[in-house]
Amino acid sequence: PLVLVTGASGYIGASVVHAFLRAGYRVRGTVRKQAQADAWRKHFPQYKGKLDFALVEDMGKEGAYDEAIKDVEVVVHTASPFFFGYTDNERDMLLPAVNGTLNILKAAHWAGTVRQVVITSSFAALQDYHRGPDPTKVYTEDDWCPLTWDEAVKEEKDQILVYVTSKKYAEKKAWDFVAEKKPAFSLTTILPVYVLGASEQPLLSVDGLSTSASWIREFIDKQDLPKAPIHAMIDVQDVALAHLRAVENASVAAGKRYLVAAHSFSGSEVAHILHQAFPDQQSRFPEVRGEPGWDKEEPWKWDTSRAEKDLGMRWKPLEQTIREAAEQVFEFERRD
Ligand code: NDP
Repeated sequence: PLVLVTGASGYIGASVVHAFLRAGYRVRGTVRKQAQADAWRKHFPQYKGKLDFALVEDMGKEGAYDEAIKDVEVVVHTASPFFFGYTDNERDMLLPAVNGTLNILKAAHWAGTVRQVVITSSFAALQDYHRGPDPTKVYTEDDWCPLTWDEAVKEEKDQILVYVTSKKYAEKKAWDFVAEKKPAFSLTTILPVYVLGASEQPLLSVDGLSTSASWIREFIDKQDLPKAPIHAMIDVQDVALAHLRAVENASVAAGKRYLVAAHSFSGSEVAHILHQAFPDQQSRFPEVRGEPGWDKEEPWKWDTSRAEKDLGMRWKPLEQTIREAAEQVFEFERRD
């Protein structure tokens, strides 16, 4: 079967492409620029004949995916704006996220060949963003982020809030689309917490690492111990695997959301892992300053039993994720 992966040059998108190719599928990736397709071909010649590309420069444009969808049986939609420093909340974040999702669903609906769509949503789409710390709160797939579109449009300082809202509405509109149009395909959504680990993108330099993948660089040649952006993480390859398993278990995954999260973590724990794993580089990492975990905050808990039961998910150890991510940064240093 031919799988269309949107955002194939992105951090999660690239790992999704590799996961499906390794499992024997044919993949068409959408990228925004020809150079991204060229980079894939150059870095991964082994996929010749199995991987092709479609150019979709701006998925927010009406009909953006109409060409790319031809002969596709399964869609994995990972593309969504995930960057900060933008100037217009609605134009740069909310609308591309929602319209990109609606455009891929419309294309899949009209194509007539698509049997399943899997969308990369986010923990953001179920978290109650304004809720203060409450260790009794256990997030599950029944939760929905209560932020509103208007609140996000008006927000002037907190760009994370706007991103969070974009993810909520992108997913919500997808479920509304399916309820209303009753397409021939089933829908599954995957909701990862903070994603870490070595990137499988065809990267030219370490500066190409995307928002969450580059967090590991906060630990290298820095004095201050970084704070975890949120206290729950998952490895990028586990995220990709969850998408693959949703396709391999399509009937059980149909119509479901899956929260995927592996471990809680904190800055001191990550620093400790780095000190242990790379003894010859120790002077480059921040000090742990106490027992590893001393800075851990656990303002809420989560329940991933659905992904474990339906998709057979097991989680890569935190030590391995951190080691692989740092190893990639050092590898780039050796190349330069
Ligand atoms: P990346 O920024 O690496 O990937 C985003 C992808 O979307 C890129 O390929 C990007 O293309 C593409 N894209 C963005 N805007 C558009 C647009 N208007 N038209 C076409 N393509 C577009 O981030 P991640 O891989 O981390 O994120 C992938 C998905 O996972 C997103 O949906 C994100 O919300 C979600 N997610 C990520 C988490 C994380 O911690 N990383 C956690 C939970 C969910 P280009 O790079 O060329 O601009």
